[in-house]
Amino acid sequence: AIRFDGVDKRFGDNVVLRGLDFTVAKGDRVTLIGPSGSGKTTILRLVMTLEEATGGYIYIDGEPLTHVERGGQRIALKEKHRNEVRKRIGMVFQQFNLFPNMKVIDNIIEAPTHVLGMSKADAVAKARQLLDKVGLADKEDSHPSQLSGGQQQRVAIARALAMDPEILLLDEVTSALDPEIVNDVLNILRDIADTTDITMLIVTHEMQFARDVSNRVLMFDGGRVVEEAEPDVMFKDPKEQRTRDFLSAVL
Ligand code: ATP
Repeated sequence: AIRFDGVDKRFGDNVVLRGLDFTVAKGDRVTLIGPSGSGKTTILRLVMTLEEATGGYIYIDGEPLTHVERGGQRIALKEKHRNEVRKRIGMVFQQFNLFPNMKVIDNIIEAPTHVLGMSKADAVAKARQLLDKVGLADKEDSHPSQLSGGQQQRVAIARALAMDPEILLLDEVTSALDPEIVNDVLNILRDIADTTDITMLIVTHEMQFARDVSNRVLMFDGGRVVEEAEPDVMFKDPKEQRTRDFLSAVL
């Protein structure tokens, strides 16, 4: 489970999240929606510890992620602790973020061998299985620059799964792709959702995908959760005017 407890995030004077509280239960598939700049990507980056909250606490399965409250003080935890917690979390980015100088297979085995200490033979065997799953069994020796955007994103998904994450963070993973390959990538993610119990936190503009995959949708605005509901309710019969305005602009 992921729990945000009174999380504030500001960049200089720009207050992005204000006392944000929400919980994502184990195995939940939660889509975050909301206007541009409402902080959706920032929430994923906080969970991945790529950003640090300026106030409040984030817990992963009850363990504090970066800060802990002790004697009424907010104390930053050590890098070692953060790295331990982060091992359980995988993230796929809009811009793929593959290592450009490494072959596909080496991109995938990098973290399992260096972070988890898996043997190279085991990591390669697992990487091959995952490449097969994303339909790229014949590309293990290619470099990212030799692949299409859709293929690079499929490698990025395989790379995230190679760590056997409990939590998968998907940040607008189809936004940089040509329209005709968006569905290939979404179908792989649908398959992962159907065949695993990985907790997923999803930021996407693909509302049909959000409806298919998620069991909850959270609408953000002004640094807070404005509304939360099951997808059928959120997309058909939202309660809040701000949600209705947002959805009528994007649907
Ligand atoms: P979009 O749908 O457009 O991607 P979003 O809801 O994901 O938007 P974020 O990318 O989380 O929004 O950004 C929220 C706010 O935080 C924006 O005002 C943005 O300019 C600001 N912001 C995000 N990252 C940084 C940063 N590293 N430094 C300064 N400001 C930042």
